[in-house]
Amino acid sequence: MPVESVFPRLEALLPHVQKPIQYVGGELNSTVKDWDACDVRWALMYPDAYEVGLPNQGVMILYEVLNEREGVLAERTYSVWPDLEALMREHQVPQFTVDAHRPVKAFDVFGLSFSTELGYTNMLTALDLAGIPLEAKDRTIDDPIVLAGGHAAFNPEPIADFIDCAVIGDGEQAVLDITAIIRAWKAEGRPGGRDEVLLRLAKTGGVYVPRFYDVEYLPDGRIARVVANQGAPWRVSKHTVMDLDEWPYPKQPLVPLAETVHERMSVEIFRGCTRGCRFCQAGMITRPVRERSITGIGEMVERGLKATGFEEVGLLSLSSADHTEIGDIAKGLADRYTEDKIGLSLPSTRVDAFNIDLANELTRNGRRSGLTFAPEGGSERIRKVINKMVSEEDLIRTVATAYGNGWRQVKLYFMCGLPTETDEDVLQIGEMAKNVIQKGREVTGQNDIRCTVSIGGFVPKPHTPFQWAPQLSAEATDARLAKLRDSIRGDRKYGKNIGFRYHDGKPGIVEGLLSRGDRRIGAVIRAVYEDGGRFDGWREHFSYDRWMTAAEKGLAGTGVDVDWYTTRERTYEEVLPWDHLDSGLDKDWLWEDWQDALEEVEVDDCRWTPCFECGVCPQMDTKIQIGPTGKKLLPLTVVNS
Ligand code: SF4
Repeated sequence: MPVESVFPRLEALLPHVQKPIQYVGGELNSTVKDWDACDVRWALMYPDAYEVGLPNQGVMILYEVLNEREGVLAERTYSVWPDLEALMREHQVPQFTVDAHRPVKAFDVFGLSFSTELGYTNMLTALDLAGIPLEAKDRTIDDPIVLAGGHAAFNPEPIADFIDCAVIGDGEQAVLDITAIIRAWKAEGRPGGRDEVLLRLAKTGGVYVPRFYDVEYLPDGRIARVVANQGAPWRVSKHTVMDLDEWPYPKQPLVPLAETVHERMSVEIFRGCTRGCRFCQAGMITRPVRERSITGIGEMVERGLKATGFEEVGLLSLSSADHTEIGDIAKGLADRYTEDKIGLSLPSTRVDAFNIDLANELTRNGRRSGLTFAPEGGSERIRKVINKMVSEEDLIRTVATAYGNGWRQVKLYFMCGLPTETDEDVLQIGEMAKNVIQKGREVTGQNDIRCTVSIGGFVPKPHTPFQWAPQLSAEATDARLAKLRDSIRGDRKYGKNIGFRYHDGKPGIVEGLLSRGDRRIGAVIRAVYEDGGRFDGWREHFSYDRWMTAAEKGLAGTGVDVDWYTTRERTYEEVLPWDHLDSGLDKDWLWEDWQDALEEVEVDDCRWTPCFECGVCPQMDTKIQIGPTGKKLLPLTVVNS
């Protein structure tokens, strides 16, 4: 049975909303497949507005991987702005996909990718608009399977009530395996209903189905144990795609119709990071390092540019300058696209891996904007605690070379509230900025040197050595940052040349609550949603008071509260809500690394030293995959010219 497009009903509403273009679909490289020619259908959502969701690589990759397969279709859906939400409710238009404007409820799977926990309330809005019951236990055979993925899914417990299942790790192969299971179950006439298909998924050991896990609590509120029921495996493993060259996606990147956060094409040059920064969840959960080959990158850039017409290429990864062949990649691409004036960018740059030659290559064909470095911690001591192995001397040396090469702007990223941090550690941020400016003045002989410091609050994350750490309260974070601000502003010699950007501590506490929360947090999320909570990742929509009121209501009678989840330090013995989700990292290794942090002991990058047994490689039957391949990115020769 064909599914009716809701577009005729939607179209009438569009003149009354902001940026209607974001809802119309038809982007270059988007795909609409015949509904009836497919037997497994996915609606993929990045639970944020179009401008943030469309460039998301995870969704774009899965969209293409699924649509390439015969008999499978995937369409995209994004969060609608509150103005359209109100009209959709009034006119009973359901949550729709932008590709063919089909109602999300008609699909087999509703897959959501969560990069951050602050998208949880947007998921509830979408479920409700779609006409899908908010809680998994109330769904019937006619509802899609609601599946969560993305980095935040490494602890899906706070949303356990709302999702049917979660997948941790790389999605490319996983979505195909899940498709095969659903296809077989449908072909057999859907025996046993939802429970049966979910059990089949759970039994693979790679799909987490919360309903097959019972959580028992101790009288003091901690978790006593998590027990699998109905024969589900006791732990669920993450998925790891080993050879990135085998997955050269997106091949045909989507070109947005409306303005988005990134107006460029992105190519992921490697996945994973083994530098071991202790605060970095992405680095820990995406191990081991897997590089895409220089020739594979060259082909993706070439094909992507042809398919899109973009004029800038972002070379993505957690620390792009770390690719073993980054110099050749940058030079090769800059050479190849000199004529076309294609700009290149590395969104993430480490102080120590950075070299100015590389920056010069990257900006050869394009704009030279400011340089960005992330020392993360102000003092030498705190950088040892977080294992950010970079000294102030390294930074100053790099910056001096940059100024010598004509750069004039430096941006520095830091965090506030790191474990063991004192006011003194944070005040050092100001000192570092002053030293950077002083060096710039020396090297250039000019006074108009600027340095911007940007500071975010630290949130301890699951599957990292800091998962046991107490989070700094919002008040203490604000007080510490106020001291830093006063010391910078009060400095006559440098104060005017230092830009100071920071976030207050409140959103970090909510993120902390959601990051390390357990199933009891579901009631809080629901209460926030019901009170009108939407777009919590957006400063102008976020309401701390709403979250605190909801937490009081949602956690009433449980004996635990927001502080218990955030500012409390955990012990080695405590069962953590995500212990049954296996990121491959050995819990004892993480604990030892936490102890090393407290003793300010640094740990090397295992790419260049012998393995220090974090557990990932043997457990996942994977290994670090790095070059150099010794290959070069040759200029393209024009065929038949
Ligand atoms: S198992 Fe060893 S080589 Fe593999 S990521 Fe961990 S420390 Fe590195």
